[in-house]
Amino acid sequence: MMNRVKSFTCVSCQAQYSSLPSTYACPACGGILDVVYDYGSIDGGRFVLALADNPDRSIWRYEELLPVAPGAARPKLRVGGTPIYRAPRLAEEIGLSGVFIKDDGVNPTASLKDRASAVAVAMALEAGAATISCSSTGNAASSCAGCAASVGLPAVIFVPERAPAGKLAQLRIFNAVVIRVRGSYRDAFRLSREAIGRYGWYNRNAAINPYMVEGKKTVSFEICEELGSALPDWVAVSVGDGCTVAGVWKGFRELHDIGAISRTPRILGVQAEGSNPITVSFRTGRPMQPGREDTIADSIAVGEPRNPVKAVNAVRDSGGTMIDVSDEEILSAMRLLGRTTGVFGEPAGVAGLAGLARAVREGIVDSSAGACAIVTGNGLKDIQAGIRAAGEPITIPPDIALLERELARVAPSVLS
Ligand SMILES: *Cc1c(COP(=O)(O)O)cnc(C)c1O
Repeated sequence: MMNRVKSFTCVSCQAQYSSLPSTYACPACGGILDVVYDYGSIDGGRFVLALADNPDRSIWRYEELLPVAPGAARPKLRVGGTPIYRAPRLAEEIGLSGVFIKDDGVNPTASLKDRASAVAVAMALEAGAATISCSSTGNAASSCAGCAASVGLPAVIFVPERAPAGKLAQLRIFNAVVIRVRGSYRDAFRLSREAIGRYGWYNRNAAINPYMVEGKKTVSFEICEELGSALPDWVAVSVGDGCTVAGVWKGFRELHDIGAISRTPRILGVQAEGSNPITVSFRTGRPMQPGREDTIADSIAVGEPRNPVKAVNAVRDSGGTMIDVSDEEILSAMRLLGRTTGVFGEPAGVAGLAGLARAVREGIVDSSAGACAIVTGNGLKDIQAGIRAAGEPITIPPDIALLERELARVAPSVLS
């Protein structure tokens, strides 16, 4: 089997390794590793041309830049190939010349995490693992469990007690062993790390397994393919552990490195005010300090992010920036997105959009710019948040007079 991966570089001390150390993290300094390919052997022009002839709409159409060996066993779910929508009414409301919405909530288990989990399960199969495991705020968990179920691989999943019911239901339906840890995500991560070390399961923990960024970068490959020369000036995405934003940037950077695209967007990394250790580190230039997990956006409520260096480097290399948004802004972005595009995002799923709106208000993103907001997770995963954002429906007995009274109150325009 040909392996396209050339080496692994530590993002903290730049040490290089020819194969992935069993610890995943850099044995020298504990930093997170980055997968490096033999870019010189990949011709950007040919890469793009080959895509045009490739009928596979999943992430595997990019296998030349993925760590999974050609022809190796893969999970059966169709991950990737998610739609991108032009959103003119949304753009007008937030004051931008153009906005695209990349809806990754329509992946098989309804979040962008499927891109990473598909790679994780393929790598676990390649390694001959008998069990896969991860800790997660909920989406990495459900995607790992779903991809594992598709090939009959047992999964042991650790989530914080607060994980929303939708994500727990997915986990149970996919028949994962679900350990709900009384405590925070930080506590769930620690217990998973200890258990994985003890029992030797395949470790899908996104923050430290460097292959997870490889799956996530495919979202940017798709944006490039779909938009071509209309590539936006900014791409906004929410940030928890930092792995997603690192992947989003890596996808653009790699296509640029192989000559497939001529310029790259700036990345707007967005955290929630109640859980923003990476934004603080970005702003101050100081090492990340653990903080709170206090936001409605449970998927990015990460008090001790495991990938802050990769995230900060990614945003900086892109020429972009990081900002925080309040829970009110997140709820407002959920309503705005739903009302103007018909896309339902979970709170963390729309945090990138909320950040984009704020960045325009603050003059960080110029109103003449074009932008793409990645919706990272589907709103049906957390319906309580949806109702909190948009309110309860009208409930009446079956009576036309009462109906008319209510319509006059809430939607007089439909009566005319
Ligand atoms: C995991 C997740 C994120 C953030 O990804 P990180 O790699 O933790 O930074 C954003 N949105 C959703 C919906 C997620 O599930």
